[in-house]
Amino acid sequence: MKKTVAFSKNATNVFFHILTHCNLKCRHCYINKKQHGKNMLPVETINAWLEVFASKNKEANVIFLGGEPTLHPDLPEAVNKAKSLGYNSITIDTNGYLFHDILSKVSPDVIDYFSFSLDGATQKTNDMIRGKGSFDTCIQGIKSAVLKGFSASLIYTVSTINLHELDNIAPLLKDLKIDRFFIQVIGIRGKSAGSRQGKLQVSRKDWLKIVPDAAQKIARLGIIVTYPKVFLSSEAPFECAGLVADNYFIFPNGRVYRCPLCEDYPLHSLVFKDNVLANTPRINENDLFSLNIPEGCVMNKLFQPDNLSFNPNGIPKYQIACCMLKKEIRNIK
Ligand code: SF4
Ligand code: SF4
Repeated sequence: MKKTVAFSKNATNVFFHILTHCNLKCRHCYINKKQHGKNMLPVETINAWLEVFASKNKEANVIFLGGEPTLHPDLPEAVNKAKSLGYNSITIDTNGYLFHDILSKVSPDVIDYFSFSLDGATQKTNDMIRGKGSFDTCIQGIKSAVLKGFSASLIYTVSTINLHELDNIAPLLKDLKIDRFFIQVIGIRGKSAGSRQGKLQVSRKDWLKIVPDAAQKIARLGIIVTYPKVFLSSEAPFECAGLVADNYFIFPNGRVYRCPLCEDYPLHSLVFKDNVLANTPRINENDLFSLNIPEGCVMNKLFQPDNLSFNPNGIPKYQIACCMLKKEIRNIK
């Protein structure tokens, strides 16, 4: 069976940004070159870093990301290295442009998923967010990948611009033979951080009204749907992936984060130096994970508190869940 990142507490997930360059300029792009560098990692370095994580956990999942990872001419070599190291699953996240003829250079026996990003059920909405021509190219990319025998999943980043189309995307997913659908919530990172006034973040009311029902509808088609809970009741148990899970977000300048919300800041708890993974000096993200606050996620409160709401007595109305711990729906009738 094809596997991909489970977002569970028990898995080691390696989110490997092998470069930060991209051919697109999406409105919500989270890449921050000031923090993550502009270099493309040499394949020898990618291989060395893959070895480090494989030696920590033989069951690790790896997701190759960018920027646009297929712009890296040596991606096939890195993929084969990950396979030879025994990674549990290998995924390539892509905007669908599939550079360097990647589909002909890797095999469906090696790649578990090509994970495509589309942010609308229509060309108009998607291209407003991701740029002109990106919808048609991504659709064509998915068709080509499926035709060659690859499994395809789709990532839809929900914002105020495209929330209304989430409920209409099911037929497109079915037509394209997508078998996993990931709904993401927009984070106020990278470019989105500069557009707080643009209100890309969806309100709690709108999220709860649309996302869970849309997810159920899509799952009824036999597609596995994963989405973040985002808003927890104030009594619900809260868990921080930084404490209970094993995720690594690696950037080409050597920074390694445990929490994606920290990526706009030099708060990474690990760093590669001469291909050795070392701890960074305190204070770093690790010092913040264990802060127990009534608002739930501590980084959310620090970096994007606009999604919080309080009773007149100052008690939060709800908690913000960890963005890494997600709900999965499958096999519903
Ligand atoms: S495809 Fe990804 S990396 Fe490229 S601009 Fe869009 S969000 Fe950023
Ligand atoms: S998003 Fe919040 S809860 Fe999740 S790892 Fe980061 S700090 Fe912890």
